[in-house]
Amino acid sequence: MIPFFDLTKQYASIKSEIDDATARVLKSGWFILGPEVAAFEKEFAEYIGTRYAIGVGSGTEAIHIALLALGIGAGDEVITVPNTAVATVAAIELTGARAVLCDVRADSMLMDIDALARAITARTKAIIPVHLFGQSCDLDPIFEIARARNIFVLEDCAQAHGATYRGKRVGSMGDIAAFSFYPTKNLGAYGDGGALTTNDPALAERVNLIRQYGWRERYASDIKGMNSRLDELQAAILRVKLRYLDAWNAARRARAALYTELLRGVIPPREMNYGQSVYHLYVIQTAHRESLISNLKSQGIGTAIQYPQMIHRQAAYTNLGYRDDDLPVASQLARAILSLPLYPELALDDVRAVANAINDFK
Ligand SMILES: *Cc1c(COP(=O)(O)O)cnc(C)c1O
Repeated sequence: MIPFFDLTKQYASIKSEIDDATARVLKSGWFILGPEVAAFEKEFAEYIGTRYAIGVGSGTEAIHIALLALGIGAGDEVITVPNTAVATVAAIELTGARAVLCDVRADSMLMDIDALARAITARTKAIIPVHLFGQSCDLDPIFEIARARNIFVLEDCAQAHGATYRGKRVGSMGDIAAFSFYPTKNLGAYGDGGALTTNDPALAERVNLIRQYGWRERYASDIKGMNSRLDELQAAILRVKLRYLDAWNAARRARAALYTELLRGVIPPREMNYGQSVYHLYVIQTAHRESLISNLKSQGIGTAIQYPQMIHRQAAYTNLGYRDDDLPVASQLARAILSLPLYPELALDDVRAVANAINDFK
């Protein structure tokens, strides 16, 4: 049996450190916005390479709060891609802004610059490049388009903790960036969590206020806000895990390299030469997906599809008004993509077994 994902092995490998960290928080009696969150924010900002990191309740809320902090709302347009977690578009629409979808490149499966340029209108206020599957978008041309028109760039880094673009970590280059610590992400909590990173002190301050009712002082809301706080338990857990992130990402890269070396008859993911992917997912393309899935399943090998339905195909977002023909590359990819088991603790022999099963499939 080779499951698609297994979180139990990682906990077993760091159990004593995690247990110490959680016991420390439970004994302290302090659970919301305390020393663990403050320390994690400092450590995470240092890791990403920004002046500020602010912990929030989830990745979805990180994107939502970033857009609110940028002043985006009704009447504005925000451009992103159709092959993302629904969270990206959900967060845009929650602000009252309209989500505009642009197509992706066939090689990287990431935001296509020509499609982006065509999607810009006078109402465009922000672009959300999604660093999907662990790989950075080609950011320089996106910044070029954005800066010429005073458009904000919000990086969706939920799948790319530690990935680099031209030597810098994703999340350090946009006006602001959003991370998720959902348990299966490269840096995952044992519950929900998220963070924003930025170098802009004014933006960081607005994010800080918005995540807690707009309070500058307790019980006095300066601006309109919400409740979206990373909690002390998750922050203490994330502080332990952050110390392993580079090693875990290297283990993912080694397993991805082995898959790519061994696999035949399917299209492996393409790593672009401008940066290093952290392989949140290892996504192949195959013309025989459904039969391959059931063949692998019969051998006890788990797979998944990220994502089976593009955003504009989902009932809640048909209002966006896109047809597959408007997004031909993403539509083609949606029919062919298949995610194989990939996590730092996956045995190399299991990678070989999955690759052999795929190569033997007729
Ligand atoms: C997971 C994810 C999110 C949302 O994060 P949550 O913490 O689950 O709310 C946003 N964008 C992308 C690309 C994701 O993969």
